[in-house]
Amino acid sequence: MNKVIVQKPCHWIESQSDIMLEQTMQLSAINSGTHNLAGLTRVAEEFSSLFAPLADTVEVLDSHDIERVDHQGSATTERYGKILSFSKRKSAPFQVLLCGHMDTVFPRDHTFQVPQQIDQHTVTGPGVADMKGGLLVMLTALEAFERSQTSDQLGWQVILNSDEETGSLGSSHVLKAAAQQAHAGLIYEPALADGTLAGARKGSGNFTLVAHGQSAHAGREFSSGRNAIMALTDAMLQLASLTNIQRGITVNIARISGGQAFNVVPDQAVCQFNIRCQLPEDQQVIAATLQQIVKDCECSEGIRMELSGGFTRPPKAISAANQLLMDWTIDCAHTMDIDLRFKDTGGCCDGNNLAAAGLANIDTLGVLGGNIHTEKEFMLIDSLTQRAQLSFLLLNRLASAGEQLRAGEQVVK
Ligand SMILES: [Zn+2]
Repeated sequence: MNKVIVQKPCHWIESQSDIMLEQTMQLSAINSGTHNLAGLTRVAEEFSSLFAPLADTVEVLDSHDIERVDHQGSATTERYGKILSFSKRKSAPFQVLLCGHMDTVFPRDHTFQVPQQIDQHTVTGPGVADMKGGLLVMLTALEAFERSQTSDQLGWQVILNSDEETGSLGSSHVLKAAAQQAHAGLIYEPALADGTLAGARKGSGNFTLVAHGQSAHAGREFSSGRNAIMALTDAMLQLASLTNIQRGITVNIARISGGQAFNVVPDQAVCQFNIRCQLPEDQQVIAATLQQIVKDCECSEGIRMELSGGFTRPPKAISAANQLLMDWTIDCAHTMDIDLRFKDTGGCCDGNNLAAAGLANIDTLGVLGGNIHTEKEFMLIDSLTQRAQLSFLLLNRLASAGEQLRAGEQVVK
């Protein structure tokens, strides 16, 4: 990499440090829990005004509504916020897809709402790490890239969705279509506090199982009752037994509900559970096993089961093209004297979705931080600048050598 060419933009990124921090704090102060559509609209307006000046095309897209069975067994429709799309140089031969989410896990009535600077290195606040700070990293890297842009070889699309924290079910169609048009994906989830990035990721599925029985007076007509809680318990024990740590399969029984008064045989019970797998082929085997468990439990007279949900994020395995992209990221970090490492994780993100669409991607290019999804979420301030520089260098690398990655990708496909 030509050091002189990249030095100036890297200095410019440094000069943006205070602005990045200020904007992260301002955006953290606007609640954008996945179900707070008004808050998401405000945050989307802010991001739109930041990204639009860089782009040739700006689009505001609708998320799909999603039908779910809730923890009480009722069918509900979930609505999600808008999806923003910005693109530049669509006709360039090498296309990069940059993704991030505007939603957080903190609802409007959560106690954690106010960002705070703890000391000169750290801020806490909802979404500072996951991922409002990350979106500022993305923006600043793109700004630096466009300021220094001399090549017309690289075009980009930015997708900001509003439902990542609930699994991106409403935006997966947009992510998939964009991934199919791109040659490399960059996602701005936070890195670990020590700077480690995520490599391979497990796949994940959420399910709801509703057991229906027959209610009866527990004293007068006990025998005519069919206890839904007991039927569900039987099913849950079988589900839990599918966990196989060595093979990377976990079943988490996450939530149960059911039953009424002491003297009533319960006629309904609901269980919600999450399954994660390391190997793509295991998802199919487990899906078939789930059907069998339901069928077995229904053999008890008067018991009926309803299973809904499914695997929505396939495992992200590391393809040859993905490995090349990881190697380049490590190289770019080395030029900044950073010893960058990747580590596999059981967590999922939109990196799983992009990989499922065949797109090599690095999905933890955001800030360094930790305790995400808790009231102690924090971001390391210096990482705004450091990771914006890293992304800028990576964009630069893709602009000059992207063809190689495309070739690698074709070999894999
Ligand atoms: Zn996130």
